[in-house]
Amino acid sequence: MNTGPANIATLAVDLEPLSLEERLLRISAMAGRKVFTTSLGIEDQVLTAAIARSAAAIDIVTLETGRLFPETLTLINETETRLGIPIDRYRPEAADVEAYVVNYGRNGFYDSVEARHACCDVRKLRPLSRALEGAAVWVTGVRRGQSQARADTPLVEWDAQRRLLKVNPLADVDLPEIRAYAQDHDVPLNPLHERGFPSIGCEPCTRAIKPGEPERAGRWWWEQDQKRECGLHVKTAEPTPQEEPVS
Ligand code: SF4
Repeated sequence: MNTGPANIATLAVDLEPLSLEERLLRISAMAGRKVFTTSLGIEDQVLTAAIARSAAAIDIVTLETGRLFPETLTLINETETRLGIPIDRYRPEAADVEAYVVNYGRNGFYDSVEARHACCDVRKLRPLSRALEGAAVWVTGVRRGQSQARADTPLVEWDAQRRLLKVNPLADVDLPEIRAYAQDHDVPLNPLHERGFPSIGCEPCTRAIKPGEPERAGRWWWEQDQKRECGLHVKTAEPTPQEEPVS
């Protein structure tokens, strides 16, 4: 179904009253290729299950950075088998990784923020660009409750840097709702969640959190910036163009 041109605010209004699976079907009906990037965390697992259950036409991809936990790698295969859906793996270019290691050392990301961003660029951002090539819509599992930096995440936004629509269908969903969906639908989950990892990224850059800490406190824990992110979900300054077509 192509619903014709509308603006971003209209799409957000459309999505707001819908259930998760209805939201995905609404996104699925939009023109162009839709891509969901999963990190295999609980939010993304719920989204993956909802895509599979609703048969929404949304490609599922993951960034296999080369530094993921073994549990996460196992979960990619398990998810494909149990949910019956393919997950496309995007990996860093070997030459980029070699150049990083020469310049910074394999674990150079501990030494400076600049070195850390360089690693995320090679292992995440460049593969992400390839994964989103030709996409009209980028679907993410970002939630407002994950961190202060994500507290104002909208349901729909314009990614000015990548020139595509970014839809966050879990933006307004809280963690208990996520857990309830996972339990009700027997969603495969990363066993690390049970060991104090609410947010799971690359193994050397993620630690378990202590009781009372924010959900993402275990990510790049040695850095002081409270807004630390890998660059995937950093906002750009360009205002949302109301004339961008949303179908
Ligand atoms: Fe590199 Fe850590 Fe970023 Fe993974 S999270 S890409 S290991 S700096």
